[in-house]
Amino acid sequence: QKKKKISLTTMIFIALLAGALAGVIINYVIPSNYVVDDIIVQGVFYIVGQGFIRLMRMLVVPLVFCSIVCGSMAVGDTKKLGSVGVKTLIFYLCTTALAITVALTIANIFNPGKGLDMSQIQVTSTVSETTQSMSMTETLLDIIPVNIFNSLSEGNMLQIIVFALILGVILANMGDRVDIVKNFFGQFNDIMMEMTMAVMKLAPIGVFCLIAKTFAEIGFEVFIPLLKYMFCVLLALAVQCFVVYLGLLKIFSGLNPFIFIKNFFPVMAFAFSTSTSNATIPMNIDTLAEKMGVSKKISSFTIPLGATINMDGTSIMQGVAVVFTAQAFGIPLDMMDYLTVIGTATLASIGTAGVPSVGLITLTMVFNSVGLPIEGIALIMGIDRILDMTRTAVNITGDAVCTTIVASWNKAVDRDVYYRRK
Ligand code: ASP
Repeated sequence: QKKKKISLTTMIFIALLAGALAGVIINYVIPSNYVVDDIIVQGVFYIVGQGFIRLMRMLVVPLVFCSIVCGSMAVGDTKKLGSVGVKTLIFYLCTTALAITVALTIANIFNPGKGLDMSQIQVTSTVSETTQSMSMTETLLDIIPVNIFNSLSEGNMLQIIVFALILGVILANMGDRVDIVKNFFGQFNDIMMEMTMAVMKLAPIGVFCLIAKTFAEIGFEVFIPLLKYMFCVLLALAVQCFVVYLGLLKIFSGLNPFIFIKNFFPVMAFAFSTSTSNATIPMNIDTLAEKMGVSKKISSFTIPLGATINMDGTSIMQGVAVVFTAQAFGIPLDMMDYLTVIGTATLASIGTAGVPSVGLITLTMVFNSVGLPIEGIALIMGIDRILDMTRTAVNITGDAVCTTIVASWNKAVDRDVYYRRK
């Protein structure tokens, strides 16, 4: 299975390079004519590229809905939840909000999208954003759906999330009586992940067309901004991992953070190579127990929960992507927009399933919330694979750090194991 995944990654990279090359040749070498411009670039590349993006968007509503019902079902049993669960949840949410803030700050320092003029690109999907013209009170009230079927059909993510959260908690508290419905959501969630994998198999073709079209229309100009975008994401991920996490670990648990990172490195490498938080759950729990002395009583609950709802790396990519796209398309963002991004990207992180590339799918929901064009996703999709690998490593490190801190508060970290004294 691993082999297959690696080959998909390689294919995406090849598609990326081939697409860039094809685009550059069209832009600089082939004289502009009807066949090339209208049939190939605006025809084939456009249809296939947009088709791929539509397939990804098709997944958003069912994927986020099921993922959140399942996530909140897992923590929803208020009798079982207890103080460990509450503390973990709060920690997960706070670190995610912090991660997006780091990302927004770094992106605003380096301005990855400045100098890239995408405003000539025809935007097909500026989003129906009703909230922007609404007052603060209306916006708040609008979070509560009056008709969930309307919300589902309109793709109103906040309303869908609220409904899904309540549904999950109710299901968890109703016990065995609703096993059929619980299983239904669990299985539907699995099906949606399968569907995501199936769509991602088309990624090489989609990426080729998207990148080729961009380069054919804009040429080398996109190159530097894309590199800057990658640099900003990687830098923010590094800050989150080595400054925020290790700092929090030191402050809240007093444990030596360098020992932590050294022992945890193999898990990060595994997450990096698979781009799949879910797949690292067993290794994460084991490493925390064997090398860090963290009680499995806590980690067996908090790590799977984190792999489902706590995606700090993903939200970092989303924060940088927002600034990059806004700058590239010349759309100004104000403070309120940034706060909206922090809120929606935190929710998007909860709704992101721990499998490859889902972060790009839930990115549409963050873009929608501030009225950015979906075309921005087409731009960054080509280079997302390497970022997906890196952010997954950060995603699961966040889970492990929060778990260790909460465990140490509950005196469930064996310091002799941590410091190798036995
Ligand atoms: N690949 C990520 C994970 O499994 C999710 C994403 O950001 O796409 O954690």
